[in-house]
Amino acid sequence: MTVTLITGANKGLGLEAARQLLLAGHTVYLGARDPAKGSEAADRLGAGARVLPLDVTDDESVAAAASELAATVGHLDVLVNNAGISGDWLQVADTSAGDVARVFDTNLFGVVRVTQAMVPLLQRSDAPVIVNVSSGLGSIGMAADPEREWSGLVSIPYTTSKSALNMLTVQYAKAYPEIRVNVVDPGYTATDLNYNTGTQTVEEGAAVIVRMACVGPDGPTATYVGNEGPLPW
Ligand code: NAP
Repeated sequence: MTVTLITGANKGLGLEAARQLLLAGHTVYLGARDPAKGSEAADRLGAGARVLPLDVTDDESVAAAASELAATVGHLDVLVNNAGISGDWLQVADTSAGDVARVFDTNLFGVVRVTQAMVPLLQRSDAPVIVNVSSGLGSIGMAADPEREWSGLVSIPYTTSKSALNMLTVQYAKAYPEIRVNVVDPGYTATDLNYNTGTQTVEEGAAVIVRMACVGPDGPTATYVGNEGPLPW
C-alpha cells in the first residue's frame, strides 16, 4: 500500500492529484486546514481517501498530523507539498516585508514545517518521494528572459516564495539522498488561486504532480519540471 499525503488537498490541484493517485492505487491522506472541507472532498473521492487536519502555518497542527500518521499507518511513501497562496499581486512599491512574510509562511516555511515533521515517516518507506509544487513564476531563468511568457509580471511575494521553494527542494534532495525530492510547475491552471482564469484544466495541471509522485527509487531527484519537461531554475 503506497501511502501519500497531499497538503491543501481539499480543492484545486491538490484535490485532482489526490483523485489521480487514488486511481493509481495509493491510499491518499487529504491534508486540509478546514477538516469539514477535507471531509467533503474525501466523500467526493470515495474509498481510499482519508482526511488529515493540517494547517501548514501551524506547528502544532503539523505535529499532530505527523503523530496521527505515525499512529495509524506508521510510515509515509509520498509527500506532496501542494498547499499554497498567491498573496495579493501587489505593486512592488506597495509591498512590505510583512506582505512577503505572510506568503512565505505558507509557501516556503509551511513546506519546511511539514517536511521536517514527515521525514522520519518517509525514512520508513522503501521508496520515499517528495514533490514540491512550485510555479513557473518561481523560475529566475524565465523571469529574467524577456522572450518568456510571464516575464513581464512584476510582483514580489509569490514569485520569490516559489524561487526559494525551488532552492529548498535542491537542499532537501542533497540532505536526503534516500528520498526522491523534486519540484514541479503545474502550469497556468483554472483554480481559486487565480479566480479560475487559468488556461489549463486541473486534470492537465495535476498530471506533472502525479507523474513525479510516482517516480521509483532510481528515478530523478533535485529536478524542476513542468508538464512539457525540464524548466530553467
Ligand atoms: P487553490 O485551489 O487555491 O488551492 C490551494 C489549496 O491550498 C487549498 O486547499 C487551500 O485550503 C490550501 N491552503 C492554503 N493555505 C493553507 C494552509 N495554511 N494550510 C493548509 N492548506 C492551505 O490553488 P491551486 O491552484 O490548486 O494551488 C495548489 C498549488 O499549485 C499551490 O502551491 C500553487 O502555488 C501551485 N500552482 C498553481 C498554479 C495555477 O495556475 N493554479 C500554477 C502554478 C503553481 P483552503 O481551501 O482552506 O484555502
